[in-house]
Amino acid sequence: MDFVLATFNADKARELGALLAAPGRRLLRLSDFQGATAPEETGGSLLENARLKARAAARHTGLAAIADDTGLEVDALDGAPGHLAARFAGPEGDSAANLALLLERLRGVPAERRTARFRTVCVACFPDGRESVGEGALAGRIAAGPRGHGGFGYDPVFEVAGMGRTLAELDEAEKNALSHRARAVQALARQLP
Ligand code: IMP
Repeated sequence: MDFVLATFNADKARELGALLAAPGRRLLRLSDFQGATAPEETGGSLLENARLKARAAARHTGLAAIADDTGLEVDALDGAPGHLAARFAGPEGDSAANLALLLERLRGVPAERRTARFRTVCVACFPDGRESVGEGALAGRIAAGPRGHGGFGYDPVFEVAGMGRTLAELDEAEKNALSHRARAVQALARQLP
């Protein structure tokens, strides 16, 4: 069966592609469809935003579409930036600025109070209106500064619980073996044809 990956983020598309690969399943990129655009993420939750992206892609392509939405909950910031993680430092969604603002907000907060978790909701929308949902989370803490060159987004400052390494210090296969996105995709994949 064919699915379109409803994201314009090349890093995310690569991770989703590796996680969803299966015999008989063809994964297409939304950027390969003329005129495709990203909807505004106006939902009030990860599920609503993932659904907005998947539905828009399914409508545009006429294919089943898979989207994820990821949030970062930082306990010392009362759960912020949460589902607004992409626009933490401003509407442009600049990852470097988001990461710098996060470290600034946590300046002086000791390691034991820097606990955080990534949450991902992954949604598949089918052209007939059916949908399937999977969720995953990963616990960790926000490091004192960025480390590592892998991954994307907040990965350089997210230290995986019990591992002492940031997600950016893992290679793609290591990240994909334990990440919030991997867990959400696994939960979703169990329901896919
Ligand atoms: P969205 O799911 O594309 O809306 O992403 C929300 C924000 O979290 C963006 O700033 C992404 O760069 C960031 N993000 C999403 N997934 C990951 C991840 O796996 N690691 C680190 N940052 C991520």
